[in-house]
Amino acid sequence: MIVRGGTIVTARGVAQADIAIIDGRIAEVAPNLGGDGEEIDATGLHVFPGGIDSHVHFNEPGRTEWEDIGHGSAALAAGGYTTFIDMPLNNLPVTTTVDAFDLKLEAMKRSSRVDFGLWGGLVPGNMGQLEGLVVRGVMGFKAFMCPSGIDEFAACDARTLREGMKRIADLDSILLVHAEEPSELREPTGPTAAEYLASRPARAELAAITLAIEIAGATGCRLHVVHVSTGQGANLIEGARRLGADVSGETCTHYLLYTDRDLERLGGTAKCAPPFRGDVDRKRLWDMPIVVSDHSPSTLDLKQGNDFRSIWGGISGCQSTRQLLLAQDRLDLPAIAGVTATTIARRFRISSKGDIAPGLDADLWLVDLHQEDVIRHEDLLYKNRFSAHEGRRIRGKSVRTLVRGKKPQRGRFIRPGAQT
Ligand SMILES: [Zn+2]
Repeated sequence: MIVRGGTIVTARGVAQADIAIIDGRIAEVAPNLGGDGEEIDATGLHVFPGGIDSHVHFNEPGRTEWEDIGHGSAALAAGGYTTFIDMPLNNLPVTTTVDAFDLKLEAMKRSSRVDFGLWGGLVPGNMGQLEGLVVRGVMGFKAFMCPSGIDEFAACDARTLREGMKRIADLDSILLVHAEEPSELREPTGPTAAEYLASRPARAELAAITLAIEIAGATGCRLHVVHVSTGQGANLIEGARRLGADVSGETCTHYLLYTDRDLERLGGTAKCAPPFRGDVDRKRLWDMPIVVSDHSPSTLDLKQGNDFRSIWGGISGCQSTRQLLLAQDRLDLPAIAGVTATTIARRFRISSKGDIAPGLDADLWLVDLHQEDVIRHEDLLYKNRFSAHEGRRIRGKSVRTLVRGKKPQRGRFIRPGAQT
């Protein structure tokens, strides 16, 4: 099969070329390829590597009234994503044991339309499960440094983190942390958005990132900080990296679009933790090398009400990440390919994806960048069709998403590859 006449966008640049696909893999990328097989006309379209969303919560098995794998993965495909890595919560049982992993893998194989990896959980008391989870093929582990909001998924104190990171380093895996220092968090003093924001200050994130980097250095563990919300947090990670630490960070679309001043206007659907920060933070975060959705949906009733203390924290957004980034004109096209695919594949050792090059999976997004629109709830494919992003401008009409050269249908399980 040949994808003909498109403008190919990779993290390395933009060029006119055809893409030859054989057995689900990219065989050749060059202008004017010969061949008489099936063709896809990509004239006037841009062709991106399939996106990789390494931070979603699809909640299956267990909380499928919030989201499920079928709806979540279809939403991703509609937004140009061909791979995701699912978090070890808020599904039930949480993915902290080999048995829970097996249950989830079955559900994923049954229902995912795109390729997928799974994060395991690091919690107090599950050290004995880590090796088995690595053997099963987890992409790495996720730990909370503060309460997760889910009783079954307990926070790790510094001692547990240290022990866990030592084990994870021995297993040559990676730890992801939700970085907020619990002693810097407090109960909101009242029901308003402002009181919620004040209860989770930036210094909680900075203290936790500092501690996590220190433990990673002491144990030799690869570390990744999820949903960085502050500019200083991004600076801490970059500074450590420059000194040779194996640490990375990601931010999410919503931290790039909104500030603390937007929360009251947007209401409960925009409540998340860590919360939105100031405009200086927002601007700095556009330089981060990885952008994910942290798609963390729930039913609408849990996102409504006048009391921010009782509203569920999590934003639905995985369908729109790329189209929102494209509409902002802050990153050029290769940078968007980088932060939504290439850098993620490299960081998490997904060796078969993240770029458009011979030998890689033919995961492609064909998009018409001449079209603009806004996000409407009826266009969302989530189980619960609402999002904090409704009404936002998007750029790019999704024309076709190919997973290993085919229409998204049945996803495959991916494991981390060898260190490169
Ligand atoms: Zn999350």
